[in-house]
Amino acid sequence: LHIRRLVLGNACRTCCSGSAGMMRAVCVDVPGGPENLLLRTVPRPQPKSGEVLIKVHATALNRADLLQRRGLYPPPPGESDIIGLEVAGTVDTLGPGVKGGWGRDDRVMALLSGGGYAEYVSVPEELLMPVPPNLTLCQAATIPEAWLTAFQLLVFIAQVKEDEVVLVHAGASGVGTAAVQLVRLLGAVPVVTAGGPEKLKMALSLGAAAGFNYKEESFAQGVHDFTGGKGANVILDCIGGCNWKQNVSSLATDGRWVLYGTMGGRAVEGELLGKLLSKRGSLLCSLLRSRSLQYKADLVKAFSQRVLPCFSDQHASLRPVIDSTFNLEDIAEAHRHMEANRNTGKIVINLIP
Ligand code: NAP
Repeated sequence: LHIRRLVLGNACRTCCSGSAGMMRAVCVDVPGGPENLLLRTVPRPQPKSGEVLIKVHATALNRADLLQRRGLYPPPPGESDIIGLEVAGTVDTLGPGVKGGWGRDDRVMALLSGGGYAEYVSVPEELLMPVPPNLTLCQAATIPEAWLTAFQLLVFIAQVKEDEVVLVHAGASGVGTAAVQLVRLLGAVPVVTAGGPEKLKMALSLGAAAGFNYKEESFAQGVHDFTGGKGANVILDCIGGCNWKQNVSSLATDGRWVLYGTMGGRAVEGELLGKLLSKRGSLLCSLLRSRSLQYKADLVKAFSQRVLPCFSDQHASLRPVIDSTFNLEDIAEAHRHMEANRNTGKIVINLIP
């Protein structure tokens, strides 16, 4: 873990969180590069009915943040236009009608539709989770978006079964490092792709049974050899376009190919449908952010029951993987780090250094 303290040239240095009802937050007035991320003083959100106001200790970056910064992934209607999909911190204020038994200063983490790059965020109580006692708030900030996404894809969408082989692309990404561990927890067998030896090493240390450097070798051949020609039962695919031929070739008969990102392009050209049909393959697509509150609440509940206790269980030994930690003032540098594909695991923004 290394801490970077680079100075953001155009950050507002006069802003402070001391003034009542105000907070520091990262704003984007004009979509564009990392230099367009501006630290500002803005009004603190007020918790509405059923919401809890969190004093944010840490947030974490997600690939979607880069798209939102560039104006390519607007927040769902009615949600905060401040970037940030996950936080950990302490309960500050309960809105009217909150029933969950949360109390002031409880350590919590939350899935957000936006608003995470700020000192306070207001969240429907259904999207709050208690922080496992052995985790720091910086570790906890890396859990909600990446782990709930991986859990949703594996359990709700692909319905992974014991002993199935699951091919996880970008196996050292935030979502990938969570997915590898969850596949093991489900009693299935993860294999990964990644773009370098250090990333593959990390995925193997988290439980991957095999790893393929997609820049140097055919992962389709690797999966073929690993499975004795049967193929992967499930593919978690955040790459899309450029990989389609190898993906369909890697898929087992009756396999489920779960598309949840398009970092490798959106277009396909060729006989995808014919090849998919011949495998009786299912192509399943999923997005988490645009789901209903009820869906997310069900997801948070299922994850809290099945997975959260395993972060404190020596035998399950789940662990959030932190690549690096930046201060809020250094948010532009954190975005550059992710944009260059340099992170293995999650990039944390610490608001209370
Ligand atoms: P991340 O930590 O930034 O990791 C992304 C990694 O993907 C990069 O470090 C790079 O690793 C690899 N990569 C990037 N471009 C690639 C390409 N063209 N071909 C192959 N590999 C490439 O990402 P994250 O925040 O975990 O997100 C991972 C993916 O999940 C993103 O596509 C994101 O949009 C998606 N996502 C979707 C949902 C949903 O609900 N659908 C929710 C959360 C995240 P290498 O060095 O190994 O190439």
